[in-house]
Amino acid sequence: TLNIEEKVFAIADQFDHQGKIVQIKPFGNGNINDTFLVDLDGQTQTSFILQRINHQVFKNPAAVMGNMVRVTTHIKQKLQRQPLERPWLMPEVILTKNNQDHWDSGTGEFWRAISFIAGSESFDILTDPAQAKEVGTALGIFHQLLSDLSPSQLVDTLPGFHHTPIYLQQYQRALAQNPKLTGSLGPEINHCQRVIKTWLDQCGVLETAKAQGQLPLRLMHGDPKVNNILFDRQSGKAVSVIDLDTTKPGLIHYDLGDCLRSGCNLLGEETENWSAVEFDLDLCRAILEGYLPQCQHFLTAADYDYLCPAIVLISFELGLRFFTDYLNGDRYFKVKYPEHNLIRALVQFQLASHIQSQEDAIRRMIEDIRG
Ligand code: ADP
Ligand code: MG
Ligand code: MG
Repeated sequence: TLNIEEKVFAIADQFDHQGKIVQIKPFGNGNINDTFLVDLDGQTQTSFILQRINHQVFKNPAAVMGNMVRVTTHIKQKLQRQPLERPWLMPEVILTKNNQDHWDSGTGEFWRAISFIAGSESFDILTDPAQAKEVGTALGIFHQLLSDLSPSQLVDTLPGFHHTPIYLQQYQRALAQNPKLTGSLGPEINHCQRVIKTWLDQCGVLETAKAQGQLPLRLMHGDPKVNNILFDRQSGKAVSVIDLDTTKPGLIHYDLGDCLRSGCNLLGEETENWSAVEFDLDLCRAILEGYLPQCQHFLTAADYDYLCPAIVLISFELGLRFFTDYLNGDRYFKVKYPEHNLIRALVQFQLASHIQSQEDAIRRMIEDIRG
């Protein structure tokens, strides 16, 4: 039998790369997939990214890859017709030697290869407004580039994703007779339960607006966290938005909310110091100053009205998902220690409450930037 390293080498060789593989190493800080960097020999050969798709999360990896091919092809063609005024790169899907967009092991593993954006780096935490503005610009460019691809072209690979009322139902199911509720972490768990109670009436606000046709269905990224945006090491400019697993029809509000949520929390979503978590308004302004000009030509008045509610909701929603996953025994989010998902939930709930207390200022900021 092969050891893990030999196994990954053999899988990398299923893909149509040009060269001899010299090294494969685990890469990046992803939470969902297993990511490797594959180095090829020779100076003209570039490295590529090899990923095992998390099949627990994505039940239909073939559809994930179909979406990824659609999106990257659309963006590539659009950039050829109308180049941006700044460097912009899209990872491309590398096919297998049998012309497939992923490799199916036949034993329940699904692997893909994508081109490596060399000379780039990603950050888990934003530190300065210039970087934050780049993040906002990058998300805006991504939305803008997809604004003329019909949402119906993509498959919904994660039904219920970002549907807060559905997460609430999942939470209520997880709660029923849960052994963790009688454990030693009583105060933290009670705190989470209390926070969730205050949200029962408001958590459907975006889904209702979508269902009533107030907010248009568009293509969204689904996971525009700061570490899914690649910066050029030399120029410090954002050059790519990666991690397209969750790109699907939805509301761009979730993306902007998610981006602000992850970008304006200076302690980062992995901090254990949850009670000190804050939402930084300077970074928020910078992200919005990057984002809004890219998208103003297609955003509607209703779109603007729902930006603020979305920013608060999305932090709460993620907290709810972390807490539910904690109760369910960490089935979705990988954990490094047993209470990891509980602490992550507390971080997001703290963030949501701090955003809520600054809602008026954020609303004024949006109006100010719109001019
Ligand atoms: P996950 O869904 O697990 O977050 P990602 O697709 O975001 O997986 O990949 C994990 C990390 O690997 C990224 O944060 C980034 O640092 C790195 N990475 C992924 N794809 C590329 C790429 N095409 N070029 C450069 N780095 C990449
Ligand atoms: Mg990622
Ligand atoms: Mg991902």
